Amino acid sequence: MSASNPADQPPASQIGVPASAVPNSRESGNVRDFHVHRGGEAPTSKGQKTVSEAGLDRVIIFDTTLRDGEQSPGASMNLGQKLQVAKALRDLGVDVIEAGFAAASPGDLESIREVGRQVEGPVVCSLARSSRGDIEAAWSALKDAPRRRIHVFLATSPIHRDFKLKMAKDEIVRRAVEGVKMARERCDDVEFSCEDAARTELEFLAEVAERAVEAGATTLNIPDTVGYALPQTYAETLGYLRKHVRGIDRVVLSVHCHNDLGLAVANSLAGVLVGARQVECTINGIGERAGNASLEEVVMAMKTRQDVFKVQTDVHTERLYPASRLVAQVTGIHVQRNKAVVGQNAFAHEAGIHQHGMLTHRETYEIMRPEEVGFSRSSLVLGKHSGRHALKERLVALGYQLSDAQMEKVFAEFKVLCDKKKEIYDADIEALVIHGQIHADGAQTWELAALSTTSGTGTLPAASIALVKKSDGTRYQEAAAGDGPVDAVFKAIEKITGVTGKLRDYQIHSVTVGEDAQGEVVLELEHPTGVYRGRALSTDIIEGSARAYLDVVNRIVLKTPANAELPDAVRELGTV
Ligand SMILES: [Zn+2]
Repeated sequence: MSASNPADQPPASQIGVPASAVPNSRESGNVRDFHVHRGGEAPTSKGQKTVSEAGLDRVIIFDTTLRDGEQSPGASMNLGQKLQVAKALRDLGVDVIEAGFAAASPGDLESIREVGRQVEGPVVCSLARSSRGDIEAAWSALKDAPRRRIHVFLATSPIHRDFKLKMAKDEIVRRAVEGVKMARERCDDVEFSCEDAARTELEFLAEVAERAVEAGATTLNIPDTVGYALPQTYAETLGYLRKHVRGIDRVVLSVHCHNDLGLAVANSLAGVLVGARQVECTINGIGERAGNASLEEVVMAMKTRQDVFKVQTDVHTERLYPASRLVAQVTGIHVQRNKAVVGQNAFAHEAGIHQHGMLTHRETYEIMRPEEVGFSRSSLVLGKHSGRHALKERLVALGYQLSDAQMEKVFAEFKVLCDKKKEIYDADIEALVIHGQIHADGAQTWELAALSTTSGTGTLPAASIALVKKSDGTRYQEAAAGDGPVDAVFKAIEKITGVTGKLRDYQIHSVTVGEDAQGEVVLELEHPTGVYRGRALSTDIIEGSARAYLDVVNRIVLKTPANAELPDAVRELGTV
């Protein structure tokens, strides 16, 4: 990647788009037009929802779980998983899905392309540095998407100018303008981000912003890339730009905040209060370092305090909890119990006095209803005698719409689980669905065929294991001794697959209650190509551990070399 290589760039005369010709062009289906355009229908005047009709301003929800979120250490997802998350985001009603950074790796480019082809409704977006190579890569990934956006970024802060880009101010302005124009030649919907805007001199920030708008950017994003801003300073920055950037009213002003000081959501909301109409965020707030602004918190704050914000989004909030669970399962990054909106304790009332208040009047201690975010209050119990219909009804109530084939599969697994476990709770059913979805792409090289372990006082813990290589159906068997039965299982798997690494984390969570509860095993392995997380569900912790370890092995085996380099490559490229 040669971000600073001027050879990447065409001379300005080749760009051929006069600045005056591009701004404010309106492509139908462009989110900034506030059209409701889902499910691939052409927008009609009837289907359009305007700001004035609703009486409220609309805030565009730009989800970057698949791009910024995926930059969380160990959160890499394979193509099938990214598509699952993208579909959940579509069902959730987000406006824009940033599906990746096309120039970062061939794997990223491919997943943006597939999201664009398979997930209809939201605008699909790729990040790109302000260079010809990146913009071409983004465009080649987005071409097939019915609605698409190129997101061009360039750093503007003194520390980035001097130490990363080694460019003077005028060169930054020139390259920003060139990048936006290049992107506009290909795509009507172009976002420009001033990387590290929150640490940029206001006057210079306004200059770059104005030139980017003039060059045809349709969304102007002001990222706090390093999580340095405070609500007040961030609002002042945006206020300054609104006052001093010519043409800013013709574009959507966007916020993108990081959580290094725990202020990502607060800063984003401060931005909305001073006129930002796009919020960039991720499910569960995952992202580099301390993460991004959490989508569910931003959305529920604006909804619950509509009296203050006077805005609305198109998010179906009852899909928030299922989306949160899916992302937690896919990435292996668990949601803390006391996390706002989607944490397990978010709606739990333990203290007797609260319970009494709740029973008399719900609003005594509850500002949101759990059902509003898709959190099920009831823990209706299913069991051996529950039929297909009861299971289906429960799934619908939990917010899952399954196809007949998926329903059959979940029902079969439900029956197996009923033999192992007397009472089946909502969380058990949900775990079956989500684990089914995660592994639905069949992207498995190795499958567990048989497992037995011995352990006890005075004996050496040992495991014998049989795995099947899915490509040719060959069965391999190995035995190993270890420090304990789980260690012995891991060593036996290593012997067969040849994949070794250092175990960094190993956790077992109980999905529900009781001695026969399902355990979810999550483990993290350090491999020369990166850090990988794997997970599995079982009522038997040794079997669960074996499956979780195989999940990691399968991820390592399936990772393309280009993709494996992603974290370092991205770090070098920089992002917003
Ligand atoms: Zn970011």
